[in-house]
Amino acid sequence: MKVAITGGAGFIGSNLARALIDHPKINQVRVVDNLSTGCEANIAGLGVDFFEGDIQNAGLLDQVFRGMDAVVHLAALPSVPRSVRDPMASHQANATGTLQVLEAARRAGGLHVIAASSSSVYGANPRLPKHEDLTTAPMSPYAVTKLATEAYLGAYHHSFDLPVLPFRFFNVYGPGQRADHAYAAVIPKWISATLAGQPATVYGDGTQTRDFTYVGTVCRVLTDALLLRIVEPRPVNLAFGTRISLLDLIPEIETATGHPVEREHVSARPSDVPHSQADNGRLRALFPTVAPVALEEGISATADWFRTSVMNAASSYPQGRRAAEPDS
Ligand code: NAD
Repeated sequence: MKVAITGGAGFIGSNLARALIDHPKINQVRVVDNLSTGCEANIAGLGVDFFEGDIQNAGLLDQVFRGMDAVVHLAALPSVPRSVRDPMASHQANATGTLQVLEAARRAGGLHVIAASSSSVYGANPRLPKHEDLTTAPMSPYAVTKLATEAYLGAYHHSFDLPVLPFRFFNVYGPGQRADHAYAAVIPKWISATLAGQPATVYGDGTQTRDFTYVGTVCRVLTDALLLRIVEPRPVNLAFGTRISLLDLIPEIETATGHPVEREHVSARPSDVPHSQADNGRLRALFPTVAPVALEEGISATADWFRTSVMNAASSYPQGRRAAEPDS
């Protein structure tokens, strides 16, 4: 099987590229990325074919998708605050970009398209757990672009019979995730701060809960989806319903790093959703054999990566160069 990854030089994309290139049933991996938040070093030496450029370039997509069997579409500006600052840029990269990917997938003969939406589409809806049939209530332009992404996949399935699978990612963490910017995700940020002997910044009282998924588990689901050619036009939550409060992460990080976590509480961020937890019935029905990597194991692997790749600047895992502001 031959697979193209859009956004393959980013955090999740480069982990997926590594997983696919090592798989005996995958013959070729192509990556297209404009390096706006990702970095070529993340995929250097893996043996993937890299095309630098924007997914809004239809001619480039035709080149990348020619001869491929499937596309994993991860390219996006993955930041809520950035979308609030510049909604048009997020719309163009995420919504128009998705439309370009779907059109190119059609022109290439009807490729299987698997794409990343986000739990942010649930937004202001307070109900838990987050079942895919709940009313969506986006609170940011970013969330709207992700709703457009999954809706376009569904529409292309119904209008053109394109085989699609839109996933709603929740809080993904793991090796290769950036910690060095204002909107970094909590796990890399706290691990990095603790290893550097600095306090972990806690927004509000830290009782907010999140459904964290290790990037290796996300890559396992994406790989199975490709190889089993899973087609589902309705969005599918990609998380395992394992809700944990931010304060409860602290002992896990202390064990993984071998250092006490010092806390510094600052005011809560108004845009923060208080609680998040996925209903994963649809995911489990489609992928009954996938078992998630346990939080303890995932945090330990992430801490190991920070210790070796970041603290000692001796990278063996992907490491970005540019400031990204991930999904919140
Ligand atoms: P990332 O920023 O590390 O990766 C995104 C990649 O897309 C980057 O390499 C970037 O350079 C590339 N890109 C952006 N715009 C592009 C364009 N117009 N053309 C070509 N390439 C472009 O982010 P990530 O955390 O790996 O996220 C991957 C996907 O998963 C995104 O679609 C994001 O919205 C989604 N997602 C992530 C999370 C999470 O917790 N990380 C949660 C929900 C959804």
